[in-house]
Amino acid sequence: MLYNQVQDLKGTIRVYCRVRPFLQGQTNGQSTVYYIGENGNIMIVNPLKQGKDARKVFSFNKVFGQNVSQEQIYIDTQPLIRSVLDGFNVCIFAYGQTGSGKTYTMSGPDMTTEQTWGVNYRALRDLFQIYKERSDFIRYEVGVQMIEIYNEQLNGLNVPDASWVPVSSTQDVLEFMRIGQKNRAVGATALNERSSRSHSVLTIHVYGKELVSGSILKGCLHLVDLAGSERVDKSEAVGERLKEAQHINRSLSALGDVISALAQKSAHIPYRNSKLTQVLQDSLGGQAKTLMFVHISPEVNAIGETISTLKFAERVA
Ligand code: ADP
Ligand code: MG
Repeated sequence: MLYNQVQDLKGTIRVYCRVRPFLQGQTNGQSTVYYIGENGNIMIVNPLKQGKDARKVFSFNKVFGQNVSQEQIYIDTQPLIRSVLDGFNVCIFAYGQTGSGKTYTMSGPDMTTEQTWGVNYRALRDLFQIYKERSDFIRYEVGVQMIEIYNEQLNGLNVPDASWVPVSSTQDVLEFMRIGQKNRAVGATALNERSSRSHSVLTIHVYGKELVSGSILKGCLHLVDLAGSERVDKSEAVGERLKEAQHINRSLSALGDVISALAQKSAHIPYRNSKLTQVLQDSLGGQAKTLMFVHISPEVNAIGETISTLKFAERVA
């Protein structure tokens, strides 16, 4: 069963849509999500439009509604994690406007509560568990690296040269991530602001040696919390803010171009157009597997961004 799921995912790109619930204090808000079908369809209603123009259906591999738990979100991701230990490269992205739930999906709201852990911690927990289960016949080495791409510049968060750090348990990684966060070149209050304008990439490298045959396998998992996809009003943004916005727009569309070229099996894949796609080049395409979680907010005032997010996602699906 698991094996078949992994086979199904090989060389393919999956796109899952997740709808964030209304936040506290806005539970009675009007939602732009009209319905979610079993088959990966979602219908959005635009309250600013009339008649049949007001409704639009988008299709993905899956759509997760507001009440779907972190555990349920992770179930479909689990086979991908196993495949990293079999020597595959995997990229998992979180896309969406700021506040739509990207960090919630990837990290969760609180590192200390296992029940609400996001994809990152669950993936690491599984990775080290399988690593242990297989220890009689494969000797694994695992290293992590944490980088941030801000204004098309790559910064290593753990050590100055962004090199690997060897780890052997989930605890090691958590400690490493904590140090990485601390090393970010901004104070705690600015952190959230900054994080919405930079791509953060946590990479887990796996190197395994089969003890009997001596054969070597290498796998790699990239967990990418992308910069917020919201368009910035050019008439309002100036200076640094405008520059940031242009860099974000350019790199997200470069990512979209690469994934859609891969999905269409195009002969030329435009990896060179952004730092992000350059960094991830070896893990996008070929035998690598890609999963993108696109996030939308249900509020009426987010309708413009919701539609552009879903259009972006449909292009890469
Ligand atoms: P982003 O990283 O896209 O900017 P966040 O992940 O920080 O967005 O989410 C914004 C807010 O919404 C946070 O307070 C977060 O806890 C909450 N939130 C997001 N997704 C969910 C969810 N699925 N369930 C409950 N709360 C959520
Ligand atoms: Mg975030």
